[in-house]
Amino acid sequence: MQQFASDNQAGICPEAMAALISANTGHEASYGDDRWTNELKARMRALFENEACETFLVFNGTAANALALAALCRPFEATLCHALSHIETDEAAAPEFFTGGAKLLVADTPDGKLTPDAVEALAKRYEGFHHVKARALSLTQSTEVGTVYSVDEIRTLTSVARRFGLKVHMDGARFANALANLGGRPADLTWRSGVDVLSFGATKNGLAVGEAVVFFDASLADAFAWRVKQTGQLASKMRFVAAPWCALMEGDVWLKNARHSNAMAKRLAERLTATGVRILHPVQANAVFADIPVPAQAALRAKGWRFYTFLGETGCRLMCAWDTSAETVDRFGRDLAEAVGR
Ligand SMILES: *Cc1c(COP(=O)(O)O)cnc(C)c1O
Repeated sequence: MQQFASDNQAGICPEAMAALISANTGHEASYGDDRWTNELKARMRALFENEACETFLVFNGTAANALALAALCRPFEATLCHALSHIETDEAAAPEFFTGGAKLLVADTPDGKLTPDAVEALAKRYEGFHHVKARALSLTQSTEVGTVYSVDEIRTLTSVARRFGLKVHMDGARFANALANLGGRPADLTWRSGVDVLSFGATKNGLAVGEAVVFFDASLADAFAWRVKQTGQLASKMRFVAAPWCALMEGDVWLKNARHSNAMAKRLAERLTATGVRILHPVQANAVFADIPVPAQAALRAKGWRFYTFLGETGCRLMCAWDTSAETVDRFGRDLAEAVGR
């Protein structure tokens, strides 16, 4: 049964699965010297219109984020981020661990999005060697609450970062969903708007495993291969991570998948609104946050639905995936209508 608990509860999309099977012939160079990993690197350079960008594959988003931040921050430095950011709330201090102690400084601004004022205030909070030194800004795109930064918003935030000498990391676990919402070019949403390194997710968008770390400032990627190896993030049979990634990029399957999950989230929000349930954040990606009364939540769960209560007792998070069907969305809508007596 399809669920709304997480987009990573979905399986592998058919294109990625076919690539996995077709990569499974014969012997192939290991540790990233295979033809698919090389093809993926070339595809990333083309996608981002950046001949200098450097791509690495790691197993998951936590590693992508933590290792990217380790490449930016020394142990006494700090990353500025949102209070709801995955690096702050969901990574068991992996960023602190892999940076050797660099702190996260958070701001709790509306709709999961940092503001220029908040970034400036965090950047100015400490001065002098008794405190941590601000070094990086991390933006999540799309955000943890399913909103999206516009290109202008990214530009404004990164220009504040530049004024304070900060490097910019983007947690793009759902970068595809953001781009599917905004349209435009991946380059404009990243390096042309001041992003130095992107954690580029694909697991939630139809792969089994494997996130890319893309450095637009190649000087920051110095010795990154050693970080990947030391932290146990180097796949020896990397072709099985890279081949499905290539398949996701071929013909823009990654955008097709993200457009679908975004569309299902919009549909779900409409169904929920029709029952009188309040939507808590603008629905701009594949997440819907809704205020569902506790008894209605219980009734839905009794019917077998699985989803998380995220904010307080009634703020529920409903995630749509690349394969979420309109039928699943409509059935959830009907069950909710019944649960709230509409
Ligand atoms: C899922 C997610 C990640 C990566 O999580 P892993 O479970 O480590 O793959 C990173 N950032 C955000 C915003 C996420 O939603």
